[in-house]
Amino acid sequence: MLDLNTIQNTARRIPDAQAVIKGSSAYPQLRGTMRLHQMEGGVLVTALVHGLPQGEDSCPVNIFGFHIHEGKACTGTDQEPFANADGHFNPGNCPHPAHAGDMPPLFGNRGSAYLSFFTDRFTVSQVIGHTVIVHLHRDDFTTQPSGDSGPMIACGIIERTGWQQWQQPRWGCVMPNC
Ligand SMILES: [Zn+2]
Repeated sequence: MLDLNTIQNTARRIPDAQAVIKGSSAYPQLRGTMRLHQMEGGVLVTALVHGLPQGEDSCPVNIFGFHIHEGKACTGTDQEPFANADGHFNPGNCPHPAHAGDMPPLFGNRGSAYLSFFTDRFTVSQVIGHTVIVHLHRDDFTTQPSGDSGPMIACGIIERTGWQQWQQPRWGCVMPNC
């Protein structure tokens, strides 16, 4: 059974996989990281994103669809910069929001969002090489095929991590003592 202490201790471990999230050319300030820890019975997903757009009306929504996508590249066209991320990760051929890649949305706080949740919809191994996408709008968890969550504004490729990669400069300095 899940235990909060176990979850918090797991979050302190080196993640099994990580995605560095970068905004499209229209959102160059958008940056973030998603980490995946494989646990017994599911995956702990942790994400921190900065530079999200901020609504300017008196009741801004600031909620952003957040999904693992089927595609394996953060490339596309001028109109759709992450078109090659394709649709939601959906090995079970299910409708939205029963896709394996469907996740809780990001809730922005002055442009920053933190998310931590547990899911048994996929294992870390299954999503290695796939993409994680931040959408411009919230996910209504109803509309097909992707919750009417609007354009893809940021993308990252999920890559396996380990001590060796962790210490290489490409990850930047992530340990508390460096
Ligand atoms: Zn979906």
